[in-house]
Amino acid sequence: MKRQITVIDRSTLPAINQRRLMRDLNAIGRIGIGNRGGVTRLVFSIKELRSRQVLIHLLRQAGLKIHIDSIGNIFGRLEGSDAKAPAVLSGSHLDTVIHGGKYDGPVGVIGALEAIRTIKENRIDIRAPLEVVCFVGEESSRFGFSTLGSSLVAGEVHAKDLANAVDAQGTKLADVLASLGITRKNLRGLARDPKTLKAYFELHIEQGPILEAIGKRIGLVTSIAAPSRFRITFTGQADHSGTTPMEMRKDALVAAAKLIEFIETTCRKFTTMAKGRVVGTVGALKIEPGVINAVPGKTELLVDIRAITAPAKNRVAKMVKAEAQHIADQRNIGVEVLTIREEDPVPLDKRLLRVTKAICDEKKLVYEIMPSGAGHDAMQMAKITPAAMIFIPSQRGISHNPLEWTGPDDIALGTQLLMETMIRVANE
Ligand SMILES: [Zn+2]
Repeated sequence: MKRQITVIDRSTLPAINQRRLMRDLNAIGRIGIGNRGGVTRLVFSIKELRSRQVLIHLLRQAGLKIHIDSIGNIFGRLEGSDAKAPAVLSGSHLDTVIHGGKYDGPVGVIGALEAIRTIKENRIDIRAPLEVVCFVGEESSRFGFSTLGSSLVAGEVHAKDLANAVDAQGTKLADVLASLGITRKNLRGLARDPKTLKAYFELHIEQGPILEAIGKRIGLVTSIAAPSRFRITFTGQADHSGTTPMEMRKDALVAAAKLIEFIETTCRKFTTMAKGRVVGTVGALKIEPGVINAVPGKTELLVDIRAITAPAKNRVAKMVKAEAQHIADQRNIGVEVLTIREEDPVPLDKRLLRVTKAICDEKKLVYEIMPSGAGHDAMQMAKITPAAMIFIPSQRGISHNPLEWTGPDDIALGTQLLMETMIRVANE
């Protein structure tokens, strides 16, 4: 069968509007900004809701057809010449970590919007419909649950995953979802029919130092490292720090300290041995009673382990759990390991990568083909449709921090590449 191919003359493709792109990105960046420049838009907070409202306004201004699902994922659609064709979707998220930056997430949402509105206002022929999406709750900062909105769209949330998702105030994620009409029984109700999707693209800042270090402005992502996350609780005994002899103590913090060091040395050793990167972090530690004159009776560690391959990650995760038990046994204290999330690394689509690569070659853009150490909505979308990611540099590799910065020219370049890739894929 002969396929009809629409040939797009690249020289006729317009440039995206960098001023408008930065204006909208800055408008979103001001929502939830603190006095030290950090941006805080935790999922389902007032600030995060306001950022979604601003996006809806921008989608309406652009004349896109808007659809909002029950959790609040927002879709803006531009029809192509073939209304029945599956859509080319692109987006990211608007929620942030606590005191985060302006670019992690919004670049992908506003970038996709800018790509689509440039296509619309220049009346560029597209066969498949184009959609921009803002996924709810990509960051795990509030509930310890990442890529919430895209997981629901991918049909990948299971009731047992929600069981341990609670915020610092004790609010259960399951209760918040229930208030939106999403219950254990209809968790799959938000799942999108894969037949309605042709591809998913996500433009994102690298959040790491590699592109800047090698002087390249574009990264094409091969796969996404996914985390194993667990909460480890050591329970010893809280005693008076003055009267309890050293040999009679059951210090839960010393046990935690030993485990934290074990995680660091194991990940380092494993990385050199296996040549694949494994990274492990204890990002939060709670100490009880947490006062100067008491032996710590209880400690709770939040552990995050990631790698590009599942076997490497799973092996290190297993070693860490075994060591936690070993430390507890040795010190005659209790230990409990609770899995918060267990995800496998996700390979992205090779064919879409080739399309983006071909466009980079035609435009003489220097790019790096690289894995992503951070998780993204693309890893959920990859389960239901071919998915690809475009990275742009992060200054000094800083992210999840008020100092997060990517130059406007790099944001515009990434958006231009996104637009040209979406046009090509929509017309294939
Ligand atoms: Zn992000």
